[in-house]
Amino acid sequence: MKKLISSNPAKDYEFVGEVAISTDEEIIEKVTAANKAKSVWKETNIKERIEFLKPIFEEFKARADEISLLTTKETGIALSESQANTSGHLVKIKWFLDNVELALADEITSEDDKSIHKIIYEPIGTAAVITPWNHPFGMFVWGVIPNLLAGNTVVFKISEECPLVGKLIEEIMSNHNLPTGIFSEIYGAGDVGWQLVNEKIDLIWFTGSTKTGQQLYKLAGEKFIKAILELGGSNPCIVFEDADIEKIISKIYIKRFKLCGQTCDALKRLIIHRSVFNEVVEKLKNEIESKKTGDPENLETNIGSLAAQRQLTLLEGQVRDAVDKGAKIITGGAPLNNINGAYYLPTLLTNISKDMRIWHEEVFGPVLPVISFETEEEAISLANDTIYGLGAIIFTNDAARAMRVASKIASGTVEINNTTHWLSCNPFGGYKKSGMGREHGIAGFRELCQLKVVSMDKFR
Ligand code: ADP
Repeated sequence: MKKLISSNPAKDYEFVGEVAISTDEEIIEKVTAANKAKSVWKETNIKERIEFLKPIFEEFKARADEISLLTTKETGIALSESQANTSGHLVKIKWFLDNVELALADEITSEDDKSIHKIIYEPIGTAAVITPWNHPFGMFVWGVIPNLLAGNTVVFKISEECPLVGKLIEEIMSNHNLPTGIFSEIYGAGDVGWQLVNEKIDLIWFTGSTKTGQQLYKLAGEKFIKAILELGGSNPCIVFEDADIEKIISKIYIKRFKLCGQTCDALKRLIIHRSVFNEVVEKLKNEIESKKTGDPENLETNIGSLAAQRQLTLLEGQVRDAVDKGAKIITGGAPLNNINGAYYLPTLLTNISKDMRIWHEEVFGPVLPVISFETEEEAISLANDTIYGLGAIIFTNDAARAMRVASKIASGTVEINNTTHWLSCNPFGGYKKSGMGREHGIAGFRELCQLKVVSMDKFR
């Protein structure tokens, strides 16, 4: 039996545990069971599905600390952040439970004395849900819970970097008598995920890299099934000259350096008006240097390690390329030396040119390139100078300008000043190579359904 080893990237890659890699036979067996169960699950009504999931929600709440600590051990994410994330994801489950009935209620589109027309939201069938490592529990919540509530059965594959969080989720899910085949998990790397999507499934729900997302989209095209894809991002943040500088520094810091810079929706390119450039860079440098990078299990730590050695190697290569092409290191710019693991110092870089990898590739780590602009048009052009289109941030005190610029940026979300788009009711997803379809909110539930129109005579 082949094993998947889970190691701790923050403790010199020490052994955390192991799980058996799913065999081809097991994958086929689980997809077959999911297909058998889909008519049973479809026949349950939404209220019944909510009742099935409520005790699971309670157990996730009761075991939140366990989930957070295991996440930190497998990914190197600072424990304080893991805890905050787990709480946030529990809020999401609550929202899904509270809002699914509203989202998927029949909708009357037309009615007169003779006939009535309605839209009915029906499940699609068996969903393959495949997730990355940066929010092991969160990605499960976003992908699996709404699918189950919408009436789809799920075969779930968590990232190979965090299989033990996957095992814990599987244990909790199996404690509550869900009907057989409704939910199952498989374990392994990309090859296991690839086999899953090549089996008889009806829907792909994927979060991960654009490269894998494009492969899955191509396959979905051949199979002619739907794929909901949440992929990479390189979010720009524009700071106009009238922004309230004191108020924006902590948000810029959080949006770039949270989870050691490893989120798709992170701020990855900072675009500052020339007149306030030096002031913002200086204040951001001070903010960064006031933070503590180190052992993620210490609750005082702000920034833990990267999730894997391969991420460290990738990041080092991106920074080296920038420095070779003339970038100036304002702070950081190197791995952390006094501790073994995938650590990299939070880094600020100026003198950025567009040929640098750091500008045109997604940077999944604590490194922020900063560039200046003169005119609004230039700022918009820099912001849109990316293959991605997940999110954007604008700092200005001019409301008309904020809306004008927001309308010209090609991205799925735009935050103006100190707001956050991260409310459960807001759909999330990207333009361009950041994805396809939306998750969360009413729109997110409807993505998971077939939409059927029924028109009928009024029976008397
Ligand atoms: P990342 O390296 O950022 O995690 P990936 O896209 O490589 O991004 O991986 C995200 C998830 O997709 C993981 O669970 C991974 O195992 C899975 N995966 C990677 N390649 C494939 C593939 N070809 N088919 C299906 N799943 C894949």
